[in-house]
Amino acid sequence: MRVVSGIQTTGNLHLGNYLGAIRNWVRLQDRMGADDVCLFFLADLHALTVTQDPATMASNTIEMAATLLAAGIDPDRSILFNQARVPAHSELAWILGGTARVGWLNRMTQWKDKAGKNREGASVGLFTYPVLQAADILAYRATHVPVGEDQKQHLELARDIATKFNLDFNVDLFPLPEPMIPEDTPRIMSLRDGTAKMSKSDPSDMSRINLIDSDDQIAAKFRKAKTDPEPLPSEVGGLAERPEARNLVTIYAALSGETSQDVLANFGGQGFGAFKPALADLAVAKLGPIRDRLVALLDDRAAVGATLAKGAARADALARPTLVAAQQALGLQI
Ligand code: ATP
Ligand code: MG
Repeated sequence: MRVVSGIQTTGNLHLGNYLGAIRNWVRLQDRMGADDVCLFFLADLHALTVTQDPATMASNTIEMAATLLAAGIDPDRSILFNQARVPAHSELAWILGGTARVGWLNRMTQWKDKAGKNREGASVGLFTYPVLQAADILAYRATHVPVGEDQKQHLELARDIATKFNLDFNVDLFPLPEPMIPEDTPRIMSLRDGTAKMSKSDPSDMSRINLIDSDDQIAAKFRKAKTDPEPLPSEVGGLAERPEARNLVTIYAALSGETSQDVLANFGGQGFGAFKPALADLAVAKLGPIRDRLVALLDDRAAVGATLAKGAARADALARPTLVAAQQALGLQI
């Protein structure tokens, strides 16, 4: 099994990223056998599809890498690196640009959503983003890709590109990668609006728990989280029309490893005056140690950079033979 997954370097990681992605990566890494490889990368090239401030870009990459390390990614067992350091991603993306069709990219919902009405003003990179993503995966001949629901269409496209390349050039170079979406992956909503996803790009910092937040910040954000005046129900059905209450119960369950029904068995009938402090205590207990490790790692940013450089060398050694094989299939003289 060869697993590849990336995360865009567009800001600080939050509880939604942790419960929806990073924790699954750590679990995957911990389940790997001797012949399996996990590659996790900071998608700094993908971040270029929207305008980035260079200084922020550099610090984001180090901070996000430190967060992954603090959350349990082990750079000896997994290969952790930043995309820009491994040229095969860009080189293969160009090659696959000859295989992908404009019509395929035009159908991508992320392109339609992110470009909006201003297609003429969108960057070319935003349009060809899924081709780079295909290269990210295919360069390692990945068999499995942990993705969120929102990325399933892009993985489908990577499979189409792989199939067409293999067929056009009569090679068996790219295996078709399978999506991996663990069933218990929760979708965490904003603490200010239970109908909006918790996200890095939400302008309100109170809407999310950042993995760098202090214990006091975590407690204050849960204390001020939007709720309704009713006590918690004792059955999950009672949360149907209460998105904010449902979100807090989902977070509690995800952090404690229980089901939402278990949580309601304990807290049903109680008000938020009792539930919020219990949730804050649980979150501090689970996230505090990650934050403490993160703060310690950020004391030596150069060491985090060196870890990424080492990971990049290992990633490069895996990706280069695939790139060379693709170049040979095309008759390129390299
Ligand atoms: P942005 O606002 O810039 O899109 P984001 O917070 O949505 O940032 P991404 O970099 O798009 O974060 O996503 C990184 C990973 O975290 C993806 O696997 C995504 O599915 C997951 N993820 C992001 N937000 C949530 C959330 N609220 N709940 C669960 N998973 C999430
Ligand atoms: Mg997102």
